[in-house]
Amino acid sequence: MKILVTGGAGYIGSHLCVALAEAGFQPVVLDDFSNSRPAVIDRLAAIIGAPTPVAIGDISDAAFLDRVFAEHEFAAVMHLAGVKSVAESCRLPLLYYQNNIGGTLSLCAAMQRAGIRRLLFSSSATVYGAAARSPVREDAPLSAANPYGRSKLMIERLLADLVAAEAAHLPVWRVAALRYFNPVGAHPSGLLGEDPLGTPNNLVPYIADVALGRRPHLNVYGNTYATRDGTGIRDYIHVMDLAEGHVAALRYLLRANDGGYFVWNLGTGRGSTVLEVVAAFVRSSGRSVPCVMAPMRPGDVAESCAHVGRAQAELGWRARRDLDEMMADVWRWRSANADGMR
Ligand code: NAD
Ligand code: UDP
Repeated sequence: MKILVTGGAGYIGSHLCVALAEAGFQPVVLDDFSNSRPAVIDRLAAIIGAPTPVAIGDISDAAFLDRVFAEHEFAAVMHLAGVKSVAESCRLPLLYYQNNIGGTLSLCAAMQRAGIRRLLFSSSATVYGAAARSPVREDAPLSAANPYGRSKLMIERLLADLVAAEAAHLPVWRVAALRYFNPVGAHPSGLLGEDPLGTPNNLVPYIADVALGRRPHLNVYGNTYATRDGTGIRDYIHVMDLAEGHVAALRYLLRANDGGYFVWNLGTGRGSTVLEVVAAFVRSSGRSVPCVMAPMRPGDVAESCAHVGRAQAELGWRARRDLDEMMADVWRWRSANADGMR
């Protein structure tokens, strides 16, 4: 069964392709390599043991999408392509609305033309906004504080509208929004991992840079939060657990023909502080990670953790890998690929 993975050459998409292949599906990557490298495809082949078909192009290009849908018969589309930096979205809102929202509209229209109506979308815990109380449930109020978050929120709403509009007619759309918490980690082979360009914004890639001696220290953004050690708490989830959560959600969508719009949190339900993540990284790598206390980062919340009951009950899936395994896999990947795939 062929599954189209938009953004399939990216950090999460590449790990998802591995999980799909392990589960017996045939992933087909669609990517324009705007934030990934073609070398990913060779690495995927090395892990999977067979080549993964690739369609190189932009999801906003309708003619390109029609060619891809004419060439392959897909059971579903997993839509990960998009731009994802909060800071960049504040500088370049049009890019975010065009690529994320415009790209999703273009993809849905092409799926409609091709008669494919099963779609999984990469959403984010950012749609819960700053006021959410942890652990946050899927039915919590939604809000967003920046163009990136608003693009995810608007896409969720447009997908729900699409399902509702079609509900009276057959065949109907069956759509899932997957709200990721903090994906970290890498494939245990050390061949795939997160490969950010420039200075990382996120905690774990930054820690890895410090451990590699590329940056002198980690700035810990705030140590006076009302948490067990004063630093921010997040729900870090191993990228392979996240990928397997997608496969479970895909099976759920494939199980029935009636339409519906589904939302699942993908997290572990357990939070770790910044200092706990640093300690796990030091244990796994044997390297030192000097820390300097710095002011709170604007927009950060004290705690963000998933309520995972719905995904467990409906998908029969739960995250299995702990923080030490996440950090060990990051270190294996980064120490063998200090320059990523460049
Ligand atoms: P990534 O940048 O590594 O992967 C995205 C991929 O999409 C890249 O390979 C890029 O080249 C491709 N792409 C971007 N725009 C495209 C377009 N118009 N047409 C075709 N390809 C395009 O990012 P990621 O971390 O793997 O994230 C994947 C998805 O998950 C994104 O939608 C992101 O918003 C969402 N998400 C990520 C995180 C996270 O922490 N990484 C958290 C929550 C949600
Ligand atoms: N963080 C930090 N130093 C950094 C980057 C992040 O102390 O250089 C903290 C940040 O304040 C938050 C946690 O690490 O408490 C996770 O941040 P990240 O940017 O990885 O994820 P997000 O804030 O999007 O959940």
